[in-house]
Amino acid sequence: MIDEKEIRKIVESVVSSVTSNGSPQAAAFSVGTAPSVIPKATPIISPTAGIGGQDGVFDRMEDAINASKKAFEEFKIFSVRDRERLISIVRRVTRDHAEEFSKMTYEETGMGNIKDKIIKHKNCAKNSPGTEDLVSRAWSGEKGVVLEEFAPFGIIGSITPSTHPVPTMMNNIVIMLASGNTVIFNPHPGAKKVTAYALQVYHKAVVAGGFPENLFSCVKNPTIDSANIMFKHPDVTLLSITGGPGVVKAAMSTNKKVIAAGPGNPPVLVDETANLDHAADCIIRGGSFDNNLLCISEKEVFVVESVFDKFMLAMEKAGAYRIDELNLNLLAKKAFIPDEKGGHVLNREIVGKGASHLGDLVKINVPEGTRMLFGETNKDNLFVMEEQMTSFMPVVRVKNFKEGLEASLVAERGYGHTAIIHSKDMDRITEFASVMKTTIVVANGMSTQGDGPDDGEAYLAFTIATPTGEGITSPRDFCKIRRLAVAGSLRFV
Ligand code: NAD
Repeated sequence: MIDEKEIRKIVESVVSSVTSNGSPQAAAFSVGTAPSVIPKATPIISPTAGIGGQDGVFDRMEDAINASKKAFEEFKIFSVRDRERLISIVRRVTRDHAEEFSKMTYEETGMGNIKDKIIKHKNCAKNSPGTEDLVSRAWSGEKGVVLEEFAPFGIIGSITPSTHPVPTMMNNIVIMLASGNTVIFNPHPGAKKVTAYALQVYHKAVVAGGFPENLFSCVKNPTIDSANIMFKHPDVTLLSITGGPGVVKAAMSTNKKVIAAGPGNPPVLVDETANLDHAADCIIRGGSFDNNLLCISEKEVFVVESVFDKFMLAMEKAGAYRIDELNLNLLAKKAFIPDEKGGHVLNREIVGKGASHLGDLVKINVPEGTRMLFGETNKDNLFVMEEQMTSFMPVVRVKNFKEGLEASLVAERGYGHTAIIHSKDMDRITEFASVMKTTIVVANGMSTQGDGPDDGEAYLAFTIATPTGEGITSPRDFCKIRRLAVAGSLRFV
């Protein structure tokens, strides 16, 4: 019989032989004596982050992939319970640094607002789903027992957007590592500094907690080229893409499994049975959150004619600022720039900007504290058809529910993302959900109630896989399902 002391000795020697540096700290974790207080991280991105990377940040994508491969092997000995402990470290770091990460993100990207970003980080820390999502299945009968388990996929390559760089990275780390994968990030170049900084803070805390290095990593200078290396590398077995149409298309043309979270243009339909004050309040709160940067946020509103004027008054009463046709056209000229093909491109300068900023652009005085501008447009207006992600809400008059539903379907552009309805008629809500076929439908609430329990129910993800169909992603989406069938045995009753 081996006693407990000997078992500890064996485990310690195994762990120190497989962890990257064999540090006593790492070995200590394996026997359940990890430090309870995580040392305060002081990350510095060296200008010459070398081949080995520095706290998870690499100069070259190839080196990040090699390090991730090693980390994946090292991670195999850690139990599901260990992974849950890792996740709790990541949650705590997010809570502790929510303000810092939010300020840094705002400074680097110039989009959104710090107050809402802090809420976003905290919500992510609390509500990202962990290992509880991985419930095995079993069948038992006279022919034996079958067990299905969630196994890791391997090394995941993740693209993150500029709109929520750290929450997406944090949420991905939790969801992907819950099932034993490792992940490499190619972040948006416009948010590379805050992403690398935050990754180093997480990395230090996780390594100090006794886990291997490089379970998650990123490149210091992400480019389309570094993304392409990740897309093509044989050791990267799964791609997770959170971004606009360009990157989703690029990733889906690789021959890898892709979980793609693409763009959205969520319409809101308000019918004559709706509580108009509530609808206006929801549209302003959901649509102005972080200055409309969320892909699920309300982007255009269709209102049934018989209640249109009342609804516009309700929007004003709830604090939105109405602009007239002249100013709306001026704003459109600032927002959409003609391109050489006779079309137009979205001016990134207006993305994630607040109502007063938009007011300044067209030289109107917007009352202080206003969260949203709004105005009447026709249903073909660019503000309706483009995912503009800013603090202006186009409102379109429609004859009736049927016309509103048709217009919502066109404005959603087949992204299959999110749609919102305000109505007291259950049959219409059902028809709306059935016809829109979006991943998320919210009825009588704000968009944020569709993804995250601080406002609604269920769990939260920042990677909402629309074109590939996984929906609001959770750990099981990043797993291989493996089955063990034991014939004629193990049934013991
Ligand atoms: P973006 O498409 O500009 O960039 C996303 C990432 O893709 C960046 O890292 C960028 O460098 C990279 N990229 C772009 N084209 C590429 C290509 N051809 N090959 C390789 N990499 C490429 O997106 P963004 O502006 O940062 O984010 C906003 C967009 O993301 C919106 O469309 C929004 O709806 C969408 N989004 C979707 C979800 C979701 O869960 N479905 C979540 C957040 C954001």
